[in-house]
Amino acid sequence: MSNLVLGIIGGGQLGGMLAKAAKKINIETVIFCDDSEASAKKFADKFIFGNYKDKNIIDNFINKVNVVTFEFENIPFETLEYINNIKPVYPNPSVNKILQNRLYEKNFVNKLNIKTTQYVSVKKKEDINLNSILLPGLLKTVTLGYDGKGQYKLNSIDELNNININFDKEYILEKFVNLKKEISVIITRFKNKKYEIYEPIENVHENQILKNSKIPANINDNIREKSKEWAQIIAAELNYIGTLCVEYFIDKDDNLYVNEIAPRVHNSGHLTINAFNVSQFENHVRAVCKLEQIKLKKIYNAEMINILGDQIVKYRKKKFNNNEFFFDYMKKEIKLKRKMGHLTILKN
Ligand code: AMP
Repeated sequence: MSNLVLGIIGGGQLGGMLAKAAKKINIETVIFCDDSEASAKKFADKFIFGNYKDKNIIDNFINKVNVVTFEFENIPFETLEYINNIKPVYPNPSVNKILQNRLYEKNFVNKLNIKTTQYVSVKKKEDINLNSILLPGLLKTVTLGYDGKGQYKLNSIDELNNININFDKEYILEKFVNLKKEISVIITRFKNKKYEIYEPIENVHENQILKNSKIPANINDNIREKSKEWAQIIAAELNYIGTLCVEYFIDKDDNLYVNEIAPRVHNSGHLTINAFNVSQFENHVRAVCKLEQIKLKKIYNAEMINILGDQIVKYRKKKFNNNEFFFDYMKKEIKLKRKMGHLTILKN
């Protein structure tokens, strides 16, 4: 074991896969999570259960680790900042402040002359009436929405009268893009400003939840290069340390738009575990722990299938070929649409 102890905030499947990758390269891990039954628990060397705002628990966590990272972006900013004053947090909490908020995130991207969908800030119903040009569109909560949560599809102003929207929350209205494809680019940026970047991954969503991902993405060379270049610009501008994912839309006319940026390892990158010499998880650990950077090499093409809800029951009984890798997150409870596991199929 190296002497370094990595603290990971969050105990879902991403935290578990980070801890597993850390173990492989002899980094000890402590996971801090507000769910005592967190699925990542069994992969970490130590596990701390408690509220993300509980100062005593946070101090206990800080005392046990040398460096801290997180597996999801919605950790209270004050907690990350408090920790960062005592032990380094990577990526820097300032990144979260921008990316936790869809409006700040889109403003940030547009300032870099990188395209997003057209959008407007919505605080009251009037704001939608005044921006009917953005319809059909999606009304999304500015904070805390993921996998389609907190989102309303609006086809016309008339429809607005039939939906009960809680305007205590802030929203953005985003023009609906006629999607040809969705892709993501995963990049790991290291402290010496160098990076490793994975090729674009093609993603299919169903009901706003990722269904499957594959490499190579079936896209033209211009989009392939532009999507990687934009991911580099975004990571550099954020002075980012660790693994980051940029999700993109491609419309029917082959225009590329940034949809969102995840300051963490990402579901679409699960196939990197089996398809590359270094996974997105190991690269993240290497970057935040200041370890040696290894030149990335693809070994296989691959497809990843997300296993949601009770689909897991059938997979648990299934026999797999030797090019198929089944991951069971071993979550205690099966819930509708909950991510329960994934399958990666390697191809030539
Ligand atoms: P999000 O939570 O914003 O990433 O949205 C989840 C999924 O919903 C995306 O991956 C798309 O499949 C779909 N979606 C979100 N926003 C739009 C949009 N403006 N136009 C078309 N599809 C969208």
